[in-house]
Amino acid sequence: MARLDLHMHSIHSDGVKPPEWVVRQAAANGAELMALTDHDTFSGVAAAQAAAEQVGISVLTGVEVGVNDSELGEVHVLGYFSDQADKRSIAGRLDAYRVERESRAQRTVDRLVELGLDVRYESVERIADGAAIGRPHIARALVEAGHVESVQEAFDRYLLNDGPAFVPRPMLGLAETVALIHEAEGFASLAHPSRYRESERAACAFADAGGDGIEIYYRRDNAETVANGRQLADRLGLVPTVGSDFHGLHPDEMLPATVSMPDHAAERLMDLLKDLTKGPAR
Ligand code: AMP
Ligand code: MN
Ligand code: MN
Ligand code: MN
Repeated sequence: MARLDLHMHSIHSDGVKPPEWVVRQAAANGAELMALTDHDTFSGVAAAQAAAEQVGISVLTGVEVGVNDSELGEVHVLGYFSDQADKRSIAGRLDAYRVERESRAQRTVDRLVELGLDVRYESVERIADGAAIGRPHIARALVEAGHVESVQEAFDRYLLNDGPAFVPRPMLGLAETVALIHEAEGFASLAHPSRYRESERAACAFADAGGDGIEIYYRRDNAETVANGRQLADRLGLVPTVGSDFHGLHPDEMLPATVSMPDHAAERLMDLLKDLTKGPAR
């Protein structure tokens, strides 16, 4: 169905499927190239690449990181890397983010308890099961405890940004994050621009920060949004990228490798990323 999918999550962050499942599904849907982009961790990539060998698909090392911009608020950036690149610097930052995610989840649970909900951090930890812990794990604990019907309801009532149980976590700025990705010879793409209140400003700020790509082909974005995004990408010199942002959390989600992009855009992107997929000769 689609030749590339460069934005998917697994149980290594807030997704519900193992990396192997994501890889097999992407390959079954016809993808030639994919990236596993768990939040703040590369830990699922090795398993994804091992599974990839059996089904004939290339898997890029990827990650999704949150950024805090004083004007735009929270923005997400995708990073794609070659296996051989020295990623120690960004990996160190991701380690720190994961530790901060744990204390932030504890404080979120405290807030929920203050709001009168009976929920325990131990349940959240059990559900996360060693993954980079995030709000969706807390949402699942709230579903399990019977406080809400669905993960979405948990977000809408409590966990959404600036919601009653929202606790921020420390994040670097746009320029620092892009620099960290570039230090590891990576490719940085602005995740889901259509989801930001000020999409155009976010794209401009990302281009100013030295970013490389922009996720114009995203989930179910309509034709008009995509067309506007393509014009913006052209104007700013950003390369359009594609992603389903698959998590497996909602019954109506786009599955791996089901978001299409025009062939010429796919060719251009694969050509640009091919240096990252090459073996040790690089
Ligand atoms: P965190 O990384 O812990 O801040 O959690 C953010 C994650 O929660 C995102 O990557 C999405 O998977 C999910 N998420 C964020 N906002 C919402 C929302 N309003 N509704 C549903 N899911 C959301
Ligand atoms: Mn997520
Ligand atoms: Mn995101
Ligand atoms: Mn994502």
